[in-house]
Amino acid sequence: MNYDEINVFRQILDGKIAGDIVLTNESAVAINDIMPKAKIHILVIPRGRFVDFFDFHANASSIEKQNFYDLITEVLSMRGLDQAGFKLITRSGSDGGQEVPHFHVHILGGEFVGNLS
Ligand code: AMP
Repeated sequence: MNYDEINVFRQILDGKIAGDIVLTNESAVAINDIMPKAKIHILVIPRGRFVDFFDFHANASSIEKQNFYDLITEVLSMRGLDQAGFKLITRSGSDGGQEVPHFHVHILGGEFVGNLS
């Protein structure tokens, strides 16, 4: 699977453009989405070069996966979404409507998000 080295999340991870950082750990970064679709719209992005969910599942190390899931749950807890509820979305490929070809999960919440896609 070819990885696009100039995708916007690679630029943010490499410090070439600024991201609105919420929380980080050794293997992942959480940023506020630049065009939020809900009161809380945060993207959790692994630091490694993974195109999508399948690539991440097949090629990330156990530690990278653990740290990625840990960062999602830390953001959820930090924003009180573990209590209030939330939606997680990941898009993949053309049918999934993925715009940025670097694996990421959207966290949506802070209000009713059951109708959002
Ligand atoms: P997806 O369609 O799942 O690939 O979503 C890509 C998301 O990245 C969209 O919600 C965009 O608003 C968001 N996005 C694009 N550029 C930036 C940026 N520089 N900082 C934060 N979010 C961004």
